[in-house]
Amino acid sequence: MLSKTDGLFRKMRHWGVSCTAGVMMALPVKTMAQVKMSPAKIDALKTELVKEIDSQQKFTQEMVDMVFSFGELGFQEVETSKYLTDILKKNGFTIEQGIAGIPTAWTAKWGSGKPLIAVGSDIDCIPKASQKPGVAYHDPIIEGAPGHGEGHNSGQPLNITAVLALKKIMEREKIPGTIMLWPGVAEEQLGTKAYYVRDGFFKNVDACIFTHVANNLSVSYGDGGNNGMVSVQFNFEGQASHAGAAPWRGKSALDAVELMNIGWNFHREHMETTQRSHYVIKDGGDQPNVVPSKASVWYYFRERTYPKITQMFKDGIRIAEGAAQMTETKMTYEVLGSAWPGHFNQAIAETMYENIKRVGLPKWSEDDQILAKAAQKEMQNPEGGALETNGLATTLSQLSKPSATPNTGGGGSDDIADISWNLPTVVLRYPANIPGLPGHHWANAIAMATPIAHKGVTAGAKVEAMTLLDLLVKPEVLRNAWEYFNNVQTKDVKYKALISDTDKPAIHLNEKIMSEYRPEMKKYYYDPTKYTTYLEQLGIKYPTVREAAGEGK
Ligand SMILES: [Zn+2]
Repeated sequence: MLSKTDGLFRKMRHWGVSCTAGVMMALPVKTMAQVKMSPAKIDALKTELVKEIDSQQKFTQEMVDMVFSFGELGFQEVETSKYLTDILKKNGFTIEQGIAGIPTAWTAKWGSGKPLIAVGSDIDCIPKASQKPGVAYHDPIIEGAPGHGEGHNSGQPLNITAVLALKKIMEREKIPGTIMLWPGVAEEQLGTKAYYVRDGFFKNVDACIFTHVANNLSVSYGDGGNNGMVSVQFNFEGQASHAGAAPWRGKSALDAVELMNIGWNFHREHMETTQRSHYVIKDGGDQPNVVPSKASVWYYFRERTYPKITQMFKDGIRIAEGAAQMTETKMTYEVLGSAWPGHFNQAIAETMYENIKRVGLPKWSEDDQILAKAAQKEMQNPEGGALETNGLATTLSQLSKPSATPNTGGGGSDDIADISWNLPTVVLRYPANIPGLPGHHWANAIAMATPIAHKGVTAGAKVEAMTLLDLLVKPEVLRNAWEYFNNVQTKDVKYKALISDTDKPAIHLNEKIMSEYRPEMKKYYYDPTKYTTYLEQLGIKYPTVREAAGEGK
């Protein structure tokens, strides 16, 4: 659900557990048999990690391009998950497939003993966002097909690059610890992370590093000010009849949907400004001469705190019940996803930021900047707001700290928050995309299989590998991380899942769309045995910009 610009991304993160929190808090961090290394030794190993990751740029590029070409929507990440777990299996990781009852979810573990560090990133894409990479205007690979208009094709390639580099050093230096890679399946539906937590997959994890595409190299801690949410589909059932000959015999489920929306939109007038709520009608009937016997509407209810989110959910149910009463229809609802507002760990963020400063931003080429500026020009804000045509980031972000004044803006959501309320977690944002684009849009796919994404992922992998090393060989980092988690973050706020014990992951989502487009999309899967890059396979000259925009090159 995240990230068009770095700042927005930060605002969009946030909070909420069940009984597992108690288990976590009792974790005996002090008893971990962590090795301790001299600063000079750590420094030398970090230099080695950078060298190793630089030498793997071809491998990284192939993974980024390959996942881009799969373009799979949430819960349907079949090819993506197979491809990524095959790589990990070949490299000695033990794979557990289909975790939490989600066919495309998995964990991949390597190493032994404590600490156990989780490394994750999302893998799903955006509907109707198909776009040729390297082309600075709308030019879909397949019209109407899904595509990586968020950049979730880049995070797991980053994680795998980082972890394989680290693994070599862990083996040689006999550094104890276990690394667990895991995917954010259906992040766009906020569909899985609360289930991973509920079903115990993070029970014994000591820390989590999550990676998310952005346009700078950055990390934050504390409450970033974004909303949590619950995603609910309301289904109405009435009675069909001939809409012309016997309309009095019908009870319209579509009427119920419309009345619910009207009710909610009046209710909106009396809600706090931090809320965001939006809906799409998933089923509005078949044809006008049949009174719709079935109709459904899908809502996202977003707010800043757990009590406010659950209140919105209750209000939604009440209004849906009212609509059902007015239309003499039956109403049922199902939870399709959820996310707490995020809160991220200070000790790990500060450690990571030192590594960010060490790595710095990638060196962009003139071609990278031409593409970025042309895409920014193409997508300029029609309201004349902040028009960003400055190209790619060349100044490193500061470490983002929580604001002294409480955020009242609200915003988007990300279910990494559910992990972040169960164990020390940070999100590493890396510069693989172009600033100033709309987000969840084909334009956000332009950079995602080009040198911009490849360089951004390589930079991010270096930061991640170094930070993982810090977590493994500097026991004080984990100690301080749990100190913050137990005594600051969760001192007053305790996680309680927004899903119930009986809710199930909505694994049917996007099945139809993918089965419609997949046969055609298969023809465009990247073949690295024949083509150096995906750009080459698609026959795209890099960068391709509108003639006027290219003037002066
Ligand atoms: Zn995202």
